[in-house]
Amino acid sequence: MDFTLNDEQRQIYEYGARLAQQYDHRYWLDHARRHAFPHEMFRRIAEDGFLGLMVPQDYGGAGLGMTEMALFMEGTANQGVPLLMMVVGPCMSLSLLSKYGTEFHKRELLPAACRGDIQFCFAITEPGAGSNSMQIRTLARRSGNRFSLSGEKTFITGADVADYCLVVARTTPHDQVGRRTEGFTLFAVNLKQKGVDMQRVRIAIPLPEEQWTLFFDEVDLGPEDVVGEIDGGFDILFHTLNPERIILGGLCCGIGRFALEKAARYASERVVFGQPIGAHQGVQHPLARAYTAVEMASLMTRRAAWEFDNGMPAGASANMAKYAAAEAGIEAVDAAVQAHGGSGFTEDVGLYELYPLMRLLRTAPVNRELCLSYIGQKVMGMPRSY
Ligand SMILES: Cc1cc2nc3c(=O)[nH]c(=O)nc-3n(C[C@H](O)[C@H](O)[C@H](O)COP(=O)(O)OP(=O)(O)OC[C@H]3O[C@@H](n4cnc5c(N)ncnc54)[C@H](O)[C@@H]3O)c2cc1C
Repeated sequence: MDFTLNDEQRQIYEYGARLAQQYDHRYWLDHARRHAFPHEMFRRIAEDGFLGLMVPQDYGGAGLGMTEMALFMEGTANQGVPLLMMVVGPCMSLSLLSKYGTEFHKRELLPAACRGDIQFCFAITEPGAGSNSMQIRTLARRSGNRFSLSGEKTFITGADVADYCLVVARTTPHDQVGRRTEGFTLFAVNLKQKGVDMQRVRIAIPLPEEQWTLFFDEVDLGPEDVVGEIDGGFDILFHTLNPERIILGGLCCGIGRFALEKAARYASERVVFGQPIGAHQGVQHPLARAYTAVEMASLMTRRAAWEFDNGMPAGASANMAKYAAAEAGIEAVDAAVQAHGGSGFTEDVGLYELYPLMRLLRTAPVNRELCLSYIGQKVMGMPRSY
């Protein structure tokens, strides 16, 4: 495993700094406070060719992998710009469509999505099924080769700005399958279609992307909307859930680094008791400890991305990266706020408002406990409790 970046990867990692010349942390925060989607910034990211990072060149993308996507995310987050819509759209949905989509998805939707003309969101969570996705009830009832989709998905990020949603549904109810992983099918659902409705979920976190409950009432779908195999959706789900964990690892590391760099600058300048506060080990060590945690998590994120790109089972590394990065991100923002004293809570400094996002990522999309259970059971061989 070689973690040296090639020239292209370095440029991707450093793109965040170029983007921030126009769209920086202040721009992001201004949109986050108003829950306003940053359309101009996404237009620029599309024009610069980054929405299709993981989409093959034949379908309008750059033909790169998870490593580059994670570097992109970490590089933008290094500037204090966390891009959740990149997670659910270009990383989770577009990469899955590139591998398992129909000709319609590949020839029509992917090029449009790479250009930024259409956006995707991703829906698995239901009011009665979050951590336990086996329990989802949204059902696509079959009639000949058509489907009628009914059910409810909740907390769906960016559904209001998305045109399509990759929906995880059941085509066979869970009480009619042999194994609990059978009977899942993924669909790319046009959100403008008859039978789709949505309602805002008010989340108490400054974020440009809003969350929505989606209602599907007998939405008519055809074979051209199916992603992957009918009833075999579970097998491809981890081709998108592991990337989600990896890219969020990158996001947490970047935000952690952004907060710590700000704090190190402040602690070197702010004089209390006759010397810069950064000279006190009580201030310096928490920052240094968090910095170490961020850098370790960043390495694990790269390892997970590398394994994924090389067709290796990436579940263990992806869970460790997501767990370590979320914890490191929380520690980093907390230490940075503490080092700033009262200023850490001001709107001017704009640091405290990153804390809720880092804290969210301990709980969602996969919570700390499930990451640890995966490591405890699948990696360390301990028994399963649920
Ligand atoms: C801001 C935001 C954005 C989101 N975006 C999306 C999106 O775009 N698409 C989407 O599909 N979903 C999205 N989600 C949903 C998110 O993925 C779920 O909230 C998450 O999976 C947890 O599910 P839950 O809320 O039902 O918690 P529950 O499953 O009810 O779990 C509650 C808590 O119980 C604990 N717990 C659960 N099971 C176990 C166990 N086996 N062992 C130990 N502890 C356990 C955990 O601490 C967990 O936090 C989003 C959520 C938020 C808040």
